[in-house]
Order: sequence, then C-alpha cells, then structure tokens
Amino acid sequence: AEEVGGGDKEVVREYFNNSGFQRWKKIYGDTDEVNRVQRDIRLGHSKTVENTLSMLKDEGSLQGVTVCDAGCGTGSLSIPLAKEGAVVFASDISAAMVAEAEKQAKEQLVASENGSTPVLPKFAVKDLESLDGKYDTVVCLDVLIHYPQSKADGMIGHLASLANNRLILSFAPKTFYYDILKRIGELFPGPSKATRAYLHSEADVERALKKVGWTIRKKGLITTQFYFARLIEAVPM
Ligand code: SAM
Repeated sequence: AEEVGGGDKEVVREYFNNSGFQRWKKIYGDTDEVNRVQRDIRLGHSKTVENTLSMLKDEGSLQGVTVCDAGCGTGSLSIPLAKEGAVVFASDISAAMVAEAEKQAKEQLVASENGSTPVLPKFAVKDLESLDGKYDTVVCLDVLIHYPQSKADGMIGHLASLANNRLILSFAPKTFYYDILKRIGELFPGPSKATRAYLHSEADVERALKKVGWTIRKKGLITTQFYFARLIEAVPM
C-alpha cells in the first residue's frame, strides 16, 4: 500500500498509539478531565455517531447485518452497533486504540435482561488500505481528516469496493468558514495538535465516489463550536 502523504501514515500511527491515544480516549470517554474545547468536540462527535446509527437503522433492523468500522478508534460506533445485533468488524491503524475498543466492548456488551448476549465485534489492527472482504455496510468516521485529497480518492474507492450496499463517511468539510478557522489554528497551534488536518470538499468526495460507480444518497452536517463534520451515505449507482 502506498504511504499516506509520504510518511504521514507513520506519523499518524505513532500519534494515535501515544499522545493522540491519550487525548482522543479522553475526548471519546465520559470523564470530567476534558477542557472546554475537548468537551465541545466530544459533543459534536457523539452527534456524528448518533446520526450514523439512525442512518443505519433507517433501512431496517441491524440484526445480522455485517458492518466494517474502518478506523474504529475506541469503539464509539462499533459498540452500539453490536448492541443492535450487527456483526461488526472493527479495525484501526493504532494498536492502542484497538486494545481500548476491545476492552470497552467486553465491559459494555454484557447479557441484557432478556438473556440475549450481543456478539462482540471482531477486532484487528489494520490500516484502511489493507482491509479486505465484503460487508453489507462500511463505515469510516472522522478518519479522512488524516488523508490529503490525492490519497483520499483511492481510500474512498477502496472502502466502496468492500461494501455491498452502502458506505457511510464523515469528514471535515472544506468550506470558506472552516478553512479560515483552520488557518487560524495553524497560526496558533495548540500543544497537542501533533498531526496535520486535511479538509475535503464535498464535490471532491462526490467525484471520488462517482469514479467507482457510487453516488451520495443522504447527507447530514454536524457542527458545534469546534467540531464540523459532513456525514454522507453513499450507495452503488
Ligand atoms: N472512527 C472513530 C470514531 O469516530 O470514534 C475514531 C475517529 S479518530 C478521530 C481517527 C482514527 O482513525 C484513529 O483511531 C486513528 O488511529 C485512525 N486512523 C488514522 N489513519 C488511519 C489509517 N490509515 N488506517 C486506519 N485507521 C486510521
């Protein structure tokens, strides 16, 4: 597989196994040890997860539906999906993230009152490029931010090739307003902004999907003060 941004991928892996892991585990968790900005990002991200779950459930029960959660992080989506009865394949480039997701899944996916036990997701340490197989649905939330558009095209095509029915993606939208925020962020980098962030225009994502015969069916926009995400559901044309 080709390197993301020429060595970027190694930087991303290293970040999400160390300081990035600590930072994002806190943001995606529920403890009070977050600052105001992190709390706001936590809220925005939880809305993205919620909207994704309702997009998925709109098409009927998830019982037995196979879902690939690419770049699963700490399992924010994989765990509720497993609770819905989905057969989840969760993977991430970061071994620390995968270990945390697995730990949380084991804690949270316990037998319910009616006696049924959800099936634990299948976890693997894998980058997106080395994922294979076929799934009813492929989901990839807030990962595209680590890919420049030149690499994002291939990544989107690859994810679509793994999906039978649909692909759900979220990314930081390249809009005028957000572009400016990002530039301000670059002028005043915070201490833990270890990785570069790439924004994507919806038109570029749409073009990448079209190239492989997919089209956008539904979309949503999630914004809080510091979190911006475009959420799209794509299906084969
Ligand atoms: N999708 C999760 C969620 O929404 O809760 C996590 C989002 S987090 C901002 C980004 C995740 O993408 C990190 O866990 C990181 O390790 C993972 N990641 C970054 N580049 C990746 C790649 N090339 N392949 C697989 N995972 C990657």
